[in-house]
Amino acid sequence: METLKQTLRRIDGKGYKAYKEIAGSYRMKDGSWLHIDHVQGDPFAAPSRIRVTASMAELRWPEEWYGETWRRIALEDFLARELAARLREEGCRSDGSGKSGMIAVDAPGQQVLPRTAVRVDAERVELRLSAGLPAAGRSIRGRAAEQLLAERIPELERRALRAFDAGKLKAQLELADQQQAIRRYLRDSGYAAFVANGSILPRESGISDRPLRGKGVVPFRSPESLEITVPVPHREPLRGMGIKQGVTLIVGGGYHGKSTLLKALERGVYNHAPGDGREYVITDESAVKIRAEDGRSVTKTDISPFIGTLPFGRSTSRFSTEDASGSTSQAANIIEALEVGTSLLLLDEDTSATNFMIRDERMQRLVAKEKEPITPFVDKVRQLYEEHGVSTILVVGGSGDYFGAADCVIMMDEYAARDVTNEAQSIASTYGSGRSREGGDRFGTLRPRIVLPQSFDLARGGREKAEAKGLHTVLLGSEAIRLDQVEGLVDPSQTRAIAQMIRLLAKSGMDGSMTLREALDRLYVRIESGGLDMVSPFGKGKHPGDLALPRKHELAAAINRLRTLKVKDESRGGAQ
Ligand code: ADP
Ligand code: MG
Repeated sequence: METLKQTLRRIDGKGYKAYKEIAGSYRMKDGSWLHIDHVQGDPFAAPSRIRVTASMAELRWPEEWYGETWRRIALEDFLARELAARLREEGCRSDGSGKSGMIAVDAPGQQVLPRTAVRVDAERVELRLSAGLPAAGRSIRGRAAEQLLAERIPELERRALRAFDAGKLKAQLELADQQQAIRRYLRDSGYAAFVANGSILPRESGISDRPLRGKGVVPFRSPESLEITVPVPHREPLRGMGIKQGVTLIVGGGYHGKSTLLKALERGVYNHAPGDGREYVITDESAVKIRAEDGRSVTKTDISPFIGTLPFGRSTSRFSTEDASGSTSQAANIIEALEVGTSLLLLDEDTSATNFMIRDERMQRLVAKEKEPITPFVDKVRQLYEEHGVSTILVVGGSGDYFGAADCVIMMDEYAARDVTNEAQSIASTYGSGRSREGGDRFGTLRPRIVLPQSFDLARGGREKAEAKGLHTVLLGSEAIRLDQVEGLVDPSQTRAIAQMIRLLAKSGMDGSMTLREALDRLYVRIESGGLDMVSPFGKGKHPGDLALPRKHELAAAINRLRTLKVKDESRGGAQ
C-alpha cells in the first residue's frame, strides 16, 4: 500500500494516462489485497476495475456459511447488499471531473441471484468494485486517489468483511435453507407453487419491485381447503396455499388482485431477499410466463399444435416470421418454453391474445373450423398436462369455458383468495359451454431444433460486439435483440450475462450438431463447475463483477428472438 501511495504522490498533477502505472496488486494493512485490474483511459471512460481479496484462512469464516451452494449464493448476495448499502450511505462523492471519486458494486435487486459482484470460496472472499480515479479536468488528483484507494476502499472492506451484522447474515442464510426446503418439498409432493400465509404480494408501483406498504395492504391468506403445512428448518412449519400440479384458474372481478397473485408466482422461480414480502412464495423453477408478443421474430418453430394451415396453404410446422401476430407469437412462446424444458406455464388474460385463449360456441358456428387456423389454448391445456406433464396456472376473468378443463379454481375477492373449484365445476356441468372441442386426440409433435453457428455474426458492423443495454436489449454485432416482453428477466446483470453467454455459444457452443437444449445444458454444466465468472470476456483475474445468472429460458428467449437465427431440424439433417 505504501508503494501505491508513493506512486500516486509522484504522478499527482500529471496527465490521466499516468494512472496506468498503478495497475497491480497491493497488500493492505489488515492483510487483504487490493488489485487494480484495469485502469480507465480517462475520467469519463468506463470506471476502473478493482478487486479486494481476503483469505479465508485469515477471516476464519465457518464453512457452514458457504459449504452448500444455496448458502454460498446467499452469502455472496448478503455481502453485495451490505456493500451497496454502505456506498449508498456514503452518498455520491464526486471528486472532480467525470466519474472521479465514484465507487460502485453491482447491487442486487429484490431477487437473490447467483452473481459475480462478490465471490466466496474455500480459499478467499473477493469483492469486485468499480471506481472512478479522480482527476481535475484530465490531470491526476493524486491525493484524492490516495484517499479513495488507501482509505475509503480498505474501510469498505473492513466493514463488509469484518464488521457486518452476524445476526442479519444468519437470518439470510437460514432463509435460503428454508427456500431450498420448500422447493424440495414442492417437487417431492406434486405441487407447482406455494404462497405462504402472510406474504405481501402487491408491489409499490408498476415500475418498482419493492413491496407495497401501508394500511391498505392485504397480506395473503390461503383458503382453508388449499392450505398445506410445509416443514422448514430454523422455525415452525410454514402454512400457506399449495397449488397442485395440473390446471389451475385464478378468477375474480377486475382489480381484485388476480394479476398480482400471478406475478408473484412468476417471480417465485427466484428466491427473494429478506423483507421482500415474497420470501415464501415459491414456484417450480422451470415455470415460464407465456404472453402474446406481436412483432417478435420466430425461426422455424413448429407451432402446429396450436396453429394449423395458414391462409394460402402456408404450413406452420416450421413457422418463421419477422413479425408474428398475437396468437402466433403466443403459440411460439409456448413451444419454445417446452423445447427448453418446463413443467409449468403461467398465463394472464391481460397479456394474452383473445383468439389464442378462447373460441366460443357462437364463433364456432359463424367461422368454420376449416377457416380458423387457431386451436384455442382451452382445448390444449389438458393435453399439455396429461401427455407432457406440463401444468398451467391461468388468470381468466372473462371466460368460463375454462371451467371444464380446470383441476382447481381460485377466486380473488377483494384481495382474498377463495377456493371455488366445486362451484365452477357444478356450473360447468349444469350449463354446458355449447362449444365443440377442437383439440384433436393428441397435443401434437414437438420438434427440437439445431441452432446453426452462422446465426451469430458478432463482428458484423466492424468491431466484435456482445453487450447489453439496460434490462431489455442485447446487442450482437449489428443486431439488437429486444427482450421487453420476456418477463422472466429481472436484473440488467442477467442481460449482460446473456450477451456474454451467447458470445461463448457462438464461439464454441454451437457446432451445428447440438439441439438448442443440449447446447444450453452443456453451457450451464460448465458454469456450474467453473462459476459464472467463466462467461466473462475479461479473462482470468480480471473481474467481470457485473453479471448475474439468467435461467436457461431467458437465454433461450434471447436466442429465439435473434433475427439472424438459423436452425435446422434435429431429425432431417437438412439446413433450412
Ligand atoms: P386484477 O388482475 O384482478 O384486475 P390486479 O392484480 O392488477 O387486479 O390488482 C389491482 C390493484 O390492486 C393493483 O394496483 C394492486 O397493486 C392492488 N393489489 C393487489 N393485491 C393487493 C393486496 N393484497 N393488497 C393491497 N393491494 C393489492
Ligand atoms: Mg389483471
